[in-house]
Amino acid sequence: MHEMSLAEGIIQVIETESKRQHFHKVKTVWLEIGALAGVEVYALEFAFEAVKRHTLAETAQLQIIQIPAQAWCLPCGKMVEIKQRYEPCPECGSYQLQVSQGDEMRIKELEVD
Ligand SMILES: [Zn+2]
Repeated sequence: MHEMSLAEGIIQVIETESKRQHFHKVKTVWLEIGALAGVEVYALEFAFEAVKRHTLAETAQLQIIQIPAQAWCLPCGKMVEIKQRYEPCPECGSYQLQVSQGDEMRIKELEVD
């Protein structure tokens, strides 16, 4: 259940940003999660509901944007979409893939009051 600490991390970022940008209430949190980030979306939503209580994100809604994973395939010489790490290229079956996107998790935007 590392989603609980991820949710706490989101609250911490929000609190730091609130001091920097002088807002007092968050309405929406737009969160980008890569397909390879190993984050269980439902577990994260559940954890966020629990940790947001008594914070300035108390009434905030979590909007999750899932980012597909992409890798550079050497034999194909182009970007391909993959579902999991250590998966072969969907086009040529090669394992010479370099993951370029999909393991990130970041706050994209905050809608604040
Ligand atoms: Zn390929």
